Amino acid sequence: MRWSVSKAKQFQRCQRQWYYKEIVGRHSAPAGSIRREVYLLGLLKSISQWRGDIVDNVLTRAFLTWHKYQVRLDPEKIIFNARRLFDEQLAVAREHHLHKPGLTPSKWENFVVFRCMEYDKSIPQDELDAAWQEIEKAIRNLFEMRSVAEAMQGANTLVAQRSLQFQHSGMNVMAKPDLVVFSEERPPVIIDWKVHAFGVQEAWLQLGIYALALSRAKPHKDFPQDCCSWAPTDVKLLEVQLLKQDLREYQLSNTDVTRLENHITTTAHEMLSAVGSVKPKHEDLIPEDFTVTRYPSTCEHCSYKRVCWEGEA
Ligand code: SF4
Repeated sequence: MRWSVSKAKQFQRCQRQWYYKEIVGRHSAPAGSIRREVYLLGLLKSISQWRGDIVDNVLTRAFLTWHKYQVRLDPEKIIFNARRLFDEQLAVAREHHLHKPGLTPSKWENFVVFRCMEYDKSIPQDELDAAWQEIEKAIRNLFEMRSVAEAMQGANTLVAQRSLQFQHSGMNVMAKPDLVVFSEERPPVIIDWKVHAFGVQEAWLQLGIYALALSRAKPHKDFPQDCCSWAPTDVKLLEVQLLKQDLREYQLSNTDVTRLENHITTTAHEMLSAVGSVKPKHEDLIPEDFTVTRYPSTCEHCSYKRVCWEGEA
């Protein structure tokens, strides 16, 4: 079973939402089945999630191009690329292809489906305007933060948005840092940029898991040879709050590492206990095996409310 900071958070927020996402939804399920319906609902995004994805996408491409070809990074060009992506994906989102027969999102270059289209049949213009303004501001702010550029100086390998996995407490722990900077002279630096506000504790937890993953995961083929000889306490962690132009730096202590391991163990135990020792595909489980959130606002922003409220899964 897969564990990540966001999956553990989702489980704590609403066990049933986690159940729909992790247990019920299946891409390969037959058309019209509840598993396929739940899989499709799991593809829905809020406008604010989409805004963050666009920033991730254009920054990742820009940094990799900069590193590979040593070209100057031009924020205006990145903003231009972001606007093009914004317009192309918005056009796709307006068509709302979610219920197209045989839909395979990975075959689409710009596939996006919005929760508001599924449930309200419209996309609020004020949210779109705010999303674009924040994308532009996030990109401009990043290029005014000298400390981020300094962290990348001397990089001999730059790795962006790559999945890192290791085993802990019976779980496959997954992490995907925005950027890992490897240099010959110093330990790796992990940079994570955020468009939305994160609490210090939450960001520390996420970056800390990234550091654990970097030191324990099987390295990808293009990682430097000595990439994973560093301890998690060696790795420098930078959280970049793009809208606030704020940079937080973390470095783990041995006590922090133990706290992080304990967090994985505790939350993993809760997830595994909720599932129990049932058949491999958990077919015996029913929604009522999983408690629901106590907060109505969580339901308001939940992609699964149709099946949850109608009791179809
Ligand atoms: S609709 Fe509410 S209770 Fe149901 S899965 Fe979503 S968040 Fe949980």
